[in-house]
Amino acid sequence: MPVNLLDFNLVQLSDFFAGIGEKPFRAKQLLRWMHHSGEGDFACMSDLSKTLREKLSTTAMVEPPRLLREQQGEDGTRKWLLEVGEGNGVEAVFIPEETRGTLCISSQVGCALECTFCSTGRQGFNRNLSVAEIIGQLWWANKALGRASGDERVISNVVMMGMGEPLLNFDNVATALDIMLDDHGYGLSRRRVTVSTSGIIPAMDRLRSRCPVALAVSLHAPNDALRDVLVPINKKYPLVDLMAACRRYIEAAPRDFVTFEYVMLDGVNDSIAHARQLLDLVRDVPCKFNLIPFNPFPHSGYLRSRPDAIRAFRDVLMQAGLVVTTRRTRGDDIDAACGQLAGEVQDKTRRTLRRLVEVAS
Ligand code: SAH
Ligand code: SF4
Repeated sequence: MPVNLLDFNLVQLSDFFAGIGEKPFRAKQLLRWMHHSGEGDFACMSDLSKTLREKLSTTAMVEPPRLLREQQGEDGTRKWLLEVGEGNGVEAVFIPEETRGTLCISSQVGCALECTFCSTGRQGFNRNLSVAEIIGQLWWANKALGRASGDERVISNVVMMGMGEPLLNFDNVATALDIMLDDHGYGLSRRRVTVSTSGIIPAMDRLRSRCPVALAVSLHAPNDALRDVLVPINKKYPLVDLMAACRRYIEAAPRDFVTFEYVMLDGVNDSIAHARQLLDLVRDVPCKFNLIPFNPFPHSGYLRSRPDAIRAFRDVLMQAGLVVTTRRTRGDDIDAACGQLAGEVQDKTRRTLRRLVEVAS
């Protein structure tokens, strides 16, 4: 079975070339062909010798996930649905803004963590995405969007905020991050790639030493009693430990900050008292806040906070000197907003959760 070269970072690709008796610098050439040029056909890789191209065509392939559908929203949002086997799909969403272009990608098919306000969590878990399937989302988007004027990339930022909990698919996510940051890959700077986690503490520590990209933590509640309900993994990794892990992360990357995500749920976590409690909680963590108006889905049982409640909540945080952004809902017309991504996940088993969390520990 030929190996899929989209699964490899630079080091692994160098090992692959050493294994077939080729010089390691071939790895850089190959990365550039695949990720700069979006080329998947060895025959078109003109600076490789004919014999090498032939050798590659029998031992290797460049196989991104199959593109099932591409959509464009009225506000310029773009969405790609990619096939990941067994009737499952994952989506990548591109959100253009004036000063940057952000691609939101997925790390798993479904999610095992069962946060109650998240439609992915309600769908259950199927499996981890491979490196090729994770980086394949960027590969397709980059191919579709190309480059802006000059050599500037249209995709300036990547956020792992699609389907799944990235830190429960640690090895594949870390390898995909290597390719995103590699100059021969996508050449993104460490601060322009964000991993969003519900707070898998041991994996946050691993990420800090392996690849300290920007960190977003899905907080959603200022105390354990409420967070245990909204983000059930909190029972395993409670807030006091989570705050300590955030501080450790930032110590490894001074001048950085953690972005706390906070979904605004009407009458659940959006009072002034909650905001004050939050200030106390994050006192010692260099952080910013991103308030996310809840995106409803059928039978969620939650409502989006009222705009005046969101404003009042934001003001409490801002008056204490915190930087707060309120996420504008984008891509509404193509179901591309947070927590609304890709359709049907065949839930394998919720028992997988225990295994995944054990692996992370
Ligand atoms: N599993 C990771 C990353 C994927 S979720 C995490 O939980 O951080 C990305 C963000 O979208 C998280 O902050 C998540 O809490 C938020 N989210 C999930 N469902 C949502 C919904 N229905 N409305 C608004 N935000 C939602
Ligand atoms: Fe999983 Fe994140 Fe959704 Fe929670 S919010 S269920 S961790 S994808």
